[in-house]
Amino acid sequence: MNAASEASGSDIYDVVVVGGGPAGLAAAIALAQTGATTALIARRVPYADNRTTALLGGSVDFLQALGVWPRIKDKAAELQVMRLVDDTGRLIRAPEVRFSCNEIGLDVFGYNIENRLLLAALEQRAAELPGLTRFDDEAAAISPQDDVVAIHTGHGKALSARLVIGADGRQSLCRGAADIEVKRRELNQAALTFNISHSRPHRNVSTEFHTRQGPCVFVPLPGDRSSVVWVAAPKDAERLIALSDDELSEAAETQSHSILGRITVEPGRHLFPLSIEQPRQIAQRRIALVGEAAHVLPPIGAQGLNMGLRDAADIADVVRDAMASGEDPGAPQMLKRYASARRADVASRTFVIDIANRSLLSAFLPMQSLRAAGLHLIGSIGPLRRFAMREGLAPSWRSPRVGRGFTETPASRSE
Ligand SMILES: Cc1cc2nc3c(=O)[nH]c(=O)nc-3n(C[C@H](O)[C@H](O)[C@H](O)COP(=O)(O)OP(=O)(O)OC[C@H]3O[C@@H](n4cnc5c(N)ncnc54)[C@H](O)[C@@H]3O)c2cc1C
Repeated sequence: MNAASEASGSDIYDVVVVGGGPAGLAAAIALAQTGATTALIARRVPYADNRTTALLGGSVDFLQALGVWPRIKDKAAELQVMRLVDDTGRLIRAPEVRFSCNEIGLDVFGYNIENRLLLAALEQRAAELPGLTRFDDEAAAISPQDDVVAIHTGHGKALSARLVIGADGRQSLCRGAADIEVKRRELNQAALTFNISHSRPHRNVSTEFHTRQGPCVFVPLPGDRSSVVWVAAPKDAERLIALSDDELSEAAETQSHSILGRITVEPGRHLFPLSIEQPRQIAQRRIALVGEAAHVLPPIGAQGLNMGLRDAADIADVVRDAMASGEDPGAPQMLKRYASARRADVASRTFVIDIANRSLLSAFLPMQSLRAAGLHLIGSIGPLRRFAMREGLAPSWRSPRVGRGFTETPASRSE
């Protein structure tokens, strides 16, 4: 404990991460692996829903650098082809677009994994790091001061940190403490999630049916199983979630045009009201936001957590550089560096996904023509299609970061 912490009577850390969802756990591991003294305030509770994540682009490399990927690789399904099918039944329909990873020289686009398995592996890795202190608790009060941020937990523990990472999701306490306003737009859509087994193999093809109410996506899981994200108007989503297993299996089979053969739904369904959330800043007052505290998007193109993992990688990069040069990791210039690393990625993806969603829902004929023409161009012009594929995986301007900042350091290695 140093002089500042003795004076304040609290434990002081270089970084405190608040929130133990996938973005927070990944950030805490990456930060501890830079050698920064790191605390994680997160309740240890079983993962509460059946969502899966299509890990794309650099996400797998990042999880590899965190020592997490080898623990889950065998539990994830390879994604090699992505099909977009216009199922709007409208007069003007887009042609089917088929993206294949071979076309851009990859063996896979990424891997689909159940979130509960990803979380379990992240928890396991976090528990191994001596430089990462875990508080099975929640942050109750967060007060940024000049040199540190003071944190009080629900169990009455006092901590302070030079930098706080707000990984506390949509209702972020950290965001409020940093005085960051958020622009929120509720979408008149909800996503129903459930997993299925099916009689025909998926052949590692993910298929997105575009309906008038939103996309319905069938994403491969290991074996003859897939995860389903079915976006619909809230009333229809409520109707779907209330169906019996047999009725929902039949509805999913009809919606999938039987491409997966006979469908049987597995136990467990969840409904997520959709919104777009854009905080005005991503970092301020010694607090940096990651994951859904920093951006919320509808589940189109599997971007949300992939962006959250890039947030985690980038903040770890900034902290590693600050520590190496003896600088304060929570200083305004560090927060600025983080904000400029994240700005274009978050803004461009939010814009593109919003437009893609709006164009699907629009009953406006010129908009439908524009959407059909755009998809026709992407489907038929090779270089454009390859550009779309690469951009869908990760921003092209982003330099590969594996090996920088969050690889295991001797201090963090537990073996
Ligand atoms: C239907 C659906 C499908 C999706 N599919 C994909 C996909 O295929 N690919 C993809 O990349 N993304 C996908 N996403 C997005 C992805 O699920 C989210 O981006 C991701 O789960 C957000 O993780 P997070 O850690 O930021 O937030 P959360 O998972 O919400 O975690 C926040 C954590 O903080 C905790 N917390 C809150 N307040 C406090 C406090 N005061 N103190 C301590 N802890 C606190 C909460 O309890 C929670 O555990 C999808 C989203 C939806 C809705």
